[in-house]
Amino acid sequence: MGASRRGSLRRGSTLSAGAGILFDVGYCLMDETPRLDHAVSWLAQALTTSDTSPGAEDLHGAYLAACRRPEPGQPSLLVQMLRSLGVPAETTAALRRAVPWDAVPLVAYPETVPALSHLRDAGFRLGILANQPRSARADLDRAGIIPLCDGVWLSEAVGLAKPDPGFFRLALEAWALTPGRVAYVGDRPDNDVAPARALGLTTVRIRRGPHAEQAPRTEAEQPDIEARDLVDAARRLVAWRATLDDAH
Ligand SMILES: [Mg+2]
Repeated sequence: MGASRRGSLRRGSTLSAGAGILFDVGYCLMDETPRLDHAVSWLAQALTTSDTSPGAEDLHGAYLAACRRPEPGQPSLLVQMLRSLGVPAETTAALRRAVPWDAVPLVAYPETVPALSHLRDAGFRLGILANQPRSARADLDRAGIIPLCDGVWLSEAVGLAKPDPGFFRLALEAWALTPGRVAYVGDRPDNDVAPARALGLTTVRIRRGPHAEQAPRTEAEQPDIEARDLVDAARRLVAWRATLDDAH
């Protein structure tokens, strides 16, 4: 097998050309629910004296509605949420700047580290490519995820964001892998599946969190694989890689 010709096998690898998996963070590796709940409470408080003065339940409902049907070209779900409740554009812009989004740390799902460890031991390269503030790195490190990764690309740190294909290319170029040997795992049909699939990556959608009910709008947003959680995704990704090895 080609692996022996390369002479620089990664730990546990038995593959010739290698294969990589890039992960989203929110509702994929890490639960953003505590962060969202905190932001919604903060916004409800900030809007107490406004004309609309939506309560936390109104805001939460509007956020879930925005997640089910994100507006194309509107990168901020918070902005979409506030607009849908009639909050004026000026106020919305100011609140978006002021909301302490990362005041509450991201929390890893219980299966995240075991699933990543399993995939790393199986020889995959692992990376994180996510629309997140720089501060997410500390949360990922605290959860023990950073040492399992061969690359971390956070939008605020690199100045690119999903769905920009240039963001995904950073990882492909760093790993020198063809798109056909890389999978992307995320929860959103529009921001995760569509751009990764357009580049030729294999796409895995985990259906959980506020985007679980977001329906693909086009064939381009349909994932190759749907998974319940990271354990399910890991099992399917190992099977996917076996098909690559058969083909090469
Ligand atoms: Mg996500």
